[in-house]
Amino acid sequence: MVEKKKYRCAACNWKFSRNYKPGLCPYCGRESVEEAIDNSATGMVKEVEELGK
Ligand SMILES: [Zn+2]
Repeated sequence: MVEKKKYRCAACNWKFSRNYKPGLCPYCGRESVEEAIDNSATGMVKEVEELGK
């Protein structure tokens, strides 16, 4: 079983999943690919901020 990880390109903001770390962005071809951070934690923070108003 191969686990896919999410990545995003900092140059063009292209998001994609790979089971290995890509050296180049498949969209723009730059070396600005980084692991994407899960947005679920950010959503929880926003909820808390809205409750505090
Ligand atoms: Zn890109």
